[in-house]
Amino acid sequence: MTDYDDIVKQIAGCTRCSLSERRTRTVPGAGSTSADIMFIGEAPGYNEDQQGLPFVGAAGNVLTDLLAGIGLRRSDVYITNMVKCRPNNNRDPLSSELEACSTYMDAQIGLINPKVIVTLGRFSFGKFFPGRSISRERGKPRSWRGRMIYPMYHPAATLHNPRLRPALENDFRNLLPLVEEVIAMPPDADVADEEKPPEQQMSLF
Ligand code: SF4
Repeated sequence: MTDYDDIVKQIAGCTRCSLSERRTRTVPGAGSTSADIMFIGEAPGYNEDQQGLPFVGAAGNVLTDLLAGIGLRRSDVYITNMVKCRPNNNRDPLSSELEACSTYMDAQIGLINPKVIVTLGRFSFGKFFPGRSISRERGKPRSWRGRMIYPMYHPAATLHNPRLRPALENDFRNLLPLVEEVIAMPPDADVADEEKPPEQQMSLF
């Protein structure tokens, strides 16, 4: 059993929070476990809970389309959520649930070791930069503990508000140049700062 399989197995048997009580299936994540890009959403919805896979409903179709628009398949990246079990009626995850599940999220980040983490929506962005406004910060890559965090709107937000779609498409277009710039950085480059002031941030946009 690989270390990744071990994480999946631990999630499958997890009862660390009450979301375990009504789930159909756990939704650990999917994609390449050696991906340079990790997408982190919020929580599984109905379809994800039924299938045990992340982003397979309407919002998942948006994500798949946006990936295809920049020449990527879902199997080229790793996709997961902040919590691995579905909240009832698709409510927002509670802070206690986010905290309980952070063990798995942190383990996945450490094991997959992505160059760029794309946060989809406010909950995953809040894990790295608490209290920041996603509408103000989206599209701005920030360094965090040796990685780049790249915040975007959640694809579901564009279903509720189609006017957000151009911003999401624009952020996707800038994703691959960001990954390439991070990969090209020398190993001792200063990407370990929690946050660089705007004038020192990467000169991508
Ligand atoms: S949401 Fe996370 S912490 Fe809560 S039961 Fe599911 S796997 Fe465990």
